Amino acid sequence: MTFKNLINGEWTDGARTTRNINPSDTRDLVGEYAQADAAQAREAVAAARAAFGAWSQSTPQQRFDILDTAGSEILARRQELGDLLAREEGKTLPEAIGEVVRAGNIFKFFAGEALRLGGEVVPSVRPGVGVEVTREALGVVGLITPWNFPIAIPAWKLAPALACGNTVVMKPADLVPGSAWALADILQRAGLPPGVFNLVMGRGSEVGAVLLDDPRVDAISFTGSVATGQKVAAACVARLAKFQLEMGGKNPFVVLDDADLGVAVNCAVNSGFFSTGQRCTASSRVIVTEGIHDRFVAAMAERMKTLKVDDARKPGTDIGPVVDERQLAQDLEYIAIGQGEGARLVAGGQAQAHNADGAPGFYLAPALFSETTPAMRINREEIFGPVVSVLRAKNYEEALALANDTPFGLAGGIATTSLKHATHFKRHAQVGMAMVNLPTAGVDYHVPFGGRKGSSYGAREQGRYAAEFYTTVKTAYTQA
Ligand code: NAD
Repeated sequence: MTFKNLINGEWTDGARTTRNINPSDTRDLVGEYAQADAAQAREAVAAARAAFGAWSQSTPQQRFDILDTAGSEILARRQELGDLLAREEGKTLPEAIGEVVRAGNIFKFFAGEALRLGGEVVPSVRPGVGVEVTREALGVVGLITPWNFPIAIPAWKLAPALACGNTVVMKPADLVPGSAWALADILQRAGLPPGVFNLVMGRGSEVGAVLLDDPRVDAISFTGSVATGQKVAAACVARLAKFQLEMGGKNPFVVLDDADLGVAVNCAVNSGFFSTGQRCTASSRVIVTEGIHDRFVAAMAERMKTLKVDDARKPGTDIGPVVDERQLAQDLEYIAIGQGEGARLVAGGQAQAHNADGAPGFYLAPALFSETTPAMRINREEIFGPVVSVLRAKNYEEALALANDTPFGLAGGIATTSLKHATHFKRHAQVGMAMVNLPTAGVDYHVPFGGRKGSSYGAREQGRYAAEFYTTVKTAYTQA
């Protein structure tokens, strides 16, 4: 299978071809993909620019029909697309299918938003004057996406961008070209006119850089690491382009003495280890109050014995492989750093070069540290793997202070049966998404997604708030 670029409605080869490998079994070639160069990226921008006039004037019904058709096809092909996603990224099959369903629902939601994108009529302070506030498309939007949600993140940028009348050039992460290609194929067949959505696969420093620097790109929506986000911000500020950034997390999960132990363990295991810990909303810091601390750590260790680390597509697998060799090396390095810092490795942490069937892959037994301190690097830096550290707190107040003691602010959770503490936490956790007795990682597709502090910058993604980014507001005055 060769995944090609889509430029001005044509499937095009790249300047180079690279191989995409299954992390569950590195003997399995998922496909070869065309890597665009800077010149092809500029061609895609030109195509998007040329298509903008007509697309921005398309009727809401036309946009609804295309997005709704695409959403239906994604939902109908959930099994096949989920299989591709699990194969290229290493998420377990149920999680991968769940992500595909979410992407399909996102398209259907934003199909409806195309019809609802209204403004308001406001009384003027002057006699006989009418004031209307309306939303207009921005122009060409560049979308730069990470590898860890290969279909949901492209969907939650692409669907609102198109619903609002923008044209798009998207650069997906190098590790997951297949899901992005499938989306492009589905949109193309749903009737999207040529040039409205262009897919250019390739290196961030080459193809991504064109999107950041080309003055014909009006706005950039970026999801990825803080380091790349800072480059995106610098480039966009320099030429005054609109931008939004969704970046990393060091998300806390608080467990109070009065928590239901089973709920707390389920939330911590799901938040820390599912999707191999490779979620921006993963809880890598679990902050536990004194009275339940030892019971919680023991119960986590017991539960971890039952987690099956294996091929992502095998029935019964709880945790798939790490996405690639480089990420595995980073996870192992942090596990060594944690041990070097004096944390106690309670469970896991060993890499396995093969699964039970002998397939070579990037397997890692999820790791749990206890006796950690807030200053340790494992508690301050995003690891992006199945590595969780437990911090001890005297009481709720100290737990909340520890939860907020981070430069990040994406998601945070608490396990408690106290209404008072749950209510206080929802109000005072310095995060964009607060969870009570739920994993930090499970979010709905129709409400705002994003964080604060070092995790996010600019308008929220998803739900109705997405229009804040993908439109510009015009205030029009009329003398009757
Ligand atoms: P990354 O920053 O390495 O890459 C993200 C994208 O940016 C890729 O498409 C990459 O090719 C591109 N890129 C890299 N250098 C570039 C440059 N100089 N110019 C333009 N584009 C460039 O991130 P990643 O490793 O793919 O993803 C993991 C990170 O994403 C983690 O930090 C994770 O927390 C974060 N993430 C955040 C959210 C969120 O919504 N907050 C969601 C998922 C992932």
